[in-house]
Amino acid sequence: MPRAGSYTYPYPPSVRAVLAATKQQLIHAKMPIQKNYHTHTWRCKHATQDVSAYCQAAIDAGLTVLGISDHTALPDNRWDHIRMDIEELPEYCAVVDQAITDHPELKILKAAECEYADEYASFFKDTLLGELGFDYLIGAAHFFPHEGEWIGSYGGADSAATLQSYTKYLIESMETGLFAFMAHPDLFGNSYKTWDENTKAASHDIFTAAANLRVPLEINGYGLRKPKIDTPQGKRCMYPWLPFWEMAADYDIEFIVNSDAHHPKDVNANLEEAAAIGKQFGLKMANLGYLEA
Ligand SMILES: [Zn+2]
Ligand SMILES: [Zn+2]
Repeated sequence: MPRAGSYTYPYPPSVRAVLAATKQQLIHAKMPIQKNYHTHTWRCKHATQDVSAYCQAAIDAGLTVLGISDHTALPDNRWDHIRMDIEELPEYCAVVDQAITDHPELKILKAAECEYADEYASFFKDTLLGELGFDYLIGAAHFFPHEGEWIGSYGGADSAATLQSYTKYLIESMETGLFAFMAHPDLFGNSYKTWDENTKAASHDIFTAAANLRVPLEINGYGLRKPKIDTPQGKRCMYPWLPFWEMAADYDIEFIVNSDAHHPKDVNANLEEAAAIGKQFGLKMANLGYLEA
């Protein structure tokens, strides 16, 4: 046995893990968030300006990584009121590639925000991630299938049955392994107004899948900028929904924060505020540094 004080006795792995996590949290607490992986352009028809303006805004704001992730084109032009047409995809790729050349001081990533459907699996995997060299895809449930029809998540996840369908769809999207993280998993909070047994069951299923599949979940900054909604419990953000993130602390999940910018001035908006929510509940921030390789 070593004598006390003769040398530093190595901590067991479990204690070392705790110490490392604490140090990491301290680093995050002091450093501004310098990465945003969620950015849109004019092509989606509800954002403004183009890739170069976002890149310049990111440089001015001191960001080191900017992911351009417009709402993906789809081969059949479904839901084309909120996304580029498939014919615009080559030009989208070209402007991102041009920005990468023009701004070597900023790590720019080529990405897309996607709704999963079986018929798009090969397009996402072979065309976007394959042929076109996208760095990553974001999974999102702006729509979800319910009783044989796609319904919109804004207003649509307002009952126990639709919330169940939303949850099932979100989990199936994660299970494909196509997505680097899931955008605003708590989006259902825009239409399901009261935190209850149904939201707890849905959240349990989402967190369990995210933990098992190692898919980070996004605390979305855009939700913090949007107008608050009236609920029986008073005004609150549609998302992020705090009880959701509080509950996340009981699961081995990781979170990511993004501004979800739809205007260049928002390129780094609400990142600290979103990170504070994760920290408040002791959640672990994901490191997506592997996407920059
Ligand atoms: Zn959008
Ligand atoms: Zn988005």
